[in-house]
Amino acid sequence: MVWLDLWAFHVKTIRLKPGREKSLQHKHPWVFAGAVESVSGMPSAGETVDVLSASGDWLGRASYSPLSQIRARVWTWNPDEVVDATFFARRIAGAVDMRRALGLEAETNAMRLVYGESDGLPGVIVDRYADVLVLQCLTAGAERWRDEIVSALIEITGIENVYERSDVDVRHLEGLPKRCGLIRGKLPPEIVIHEGDLAFRVDVCIGQKTGFYMDQRRNRQWVRTMVNSRRVLDCFAYTGGFTVYALAGGAAEVVSVDSSQQALRLAAENVQRNHFSPDRVQWREGNVFSVLREMRDRGQRFDVVILDPPKFAPTAAQAHKATRAYKDVNLLALKMLSTGGLLFTFSCSGGVSAELFQRVVAGAAQDAKVEVQVVAYLSQASDHPVLLNFPEGAYLKGLVCRKM
Ligand code: SAH
Repeated sequence: MVWLDLWAFHVKTIRLKPGREKSLQHKHPWVFAGAVESVSGMPSAGETVDVLSASGDWLGRASYSPLSQIRARVWTWNPDEVVDATFFARRIAGAVDMRRALGLEAETNAMRLVYGESDGLPGVIVDRYADVLVLQCLTAGAERWRDEIVSALIEITGIENVYERSDVDVRHLEGLPKRCGLIRGKLPPEIVIHEGDLAFRVDVCIGQKTGFYMDQRRNRQWVRTMVNSRRVLDCFAYTGGFTVYALAGGAAEVVSVDSSQQALRLAAENVQRNHFSPDRVQWREGNVFSVLREMRDRGQRFDVVILDPPKFAPTAAQAHKATRAYKDVNLLALKMLSTGGLLFTFSCSGGVSAELFQRVVAGAAQDAKVEVQVVAYLSQASDHPVLLNFPEGAYLKGLVCRKM
């Protein structure tokens, strides 16, 4: 009895409401606030808690987020596994080994090494760009273990330069301020990564996300193989990922549109870095929605159009508004596409499912009065794996549409 009391005193717990244990039993790692009956032991933000069913069965060991609707995220399903520095070292080593097994290092020195829940580390994102690691801590739990995570990363990868890009909106939901800056080591004067025979300079300090869209790596290769001698329109071009691949694939000309002058400057630099003639690219700084309207009105035609917009709907709540934006931009693109031309259209919105996205593109095709064949379904690269029990990890979907 005395022992039990001591146990109850030391172990902080979350007890669920009756019937709310199902998703955890299926190894979905999130505990929503509405499922929580009681919290005992007064855990602080990010502290480790045991999650129990209403009848007291042990379900998982999780990090506590007192302010978020996602009240806890499971670190481990094993009651014997302690969450300490060695836990993070084991998980990170597993994630790094998995990328090694995929053979990615033979192809590139830029890859996602840790992808949150999908690697058993909710809230932790780590991207490698050559000799620099970029860390994002998205949750109170990740924040609490930040030092241990950084030490394990350096130990396991041998890369000693760690930069933090925890400047994402979701941190507000956890009551965490945004934070960026060097954590360990130093930043080289410039970070240049390669993907196969192509090179890109990445700005990890001010770039989108952590600097580069590695999730599109495979899809850029698709573009490369399908653009020979064609006129290509790259919308939301950022630092020129698709533009450079299109040039490598022999595109006759690429028109690249983005609202960020800074991004386009880096894109132009990346074109030069790969020794492509700048004459093959036209840069258009502006809002894609208005630039496309203007091009349409001037009767412009393209053989290949790439649409890779930012996240219009981070969550399902914004899906409705987002679908209008997706439809609008896809409609414009389809109208400007030549017959037999290809539309590479993407959505990275977690709140828009693959089915919904296909319906939206179908609606755009109907309004444009064109018939379309989907010739490929695309998704995120393999260093962004998806747990079968955590489909939320799948966010990037793409269709390669051929205008008939
Ligand atoms: N295709 C890129 C990634 C795109 S990220 C790649 O593979 O690397 C989204 C880009 O859209 C950002 O560069 C951002 O500046 C740009 N952007 C966001 N809204 C825009 C708009 N309305 N018009 C033009 N560009 C926009």
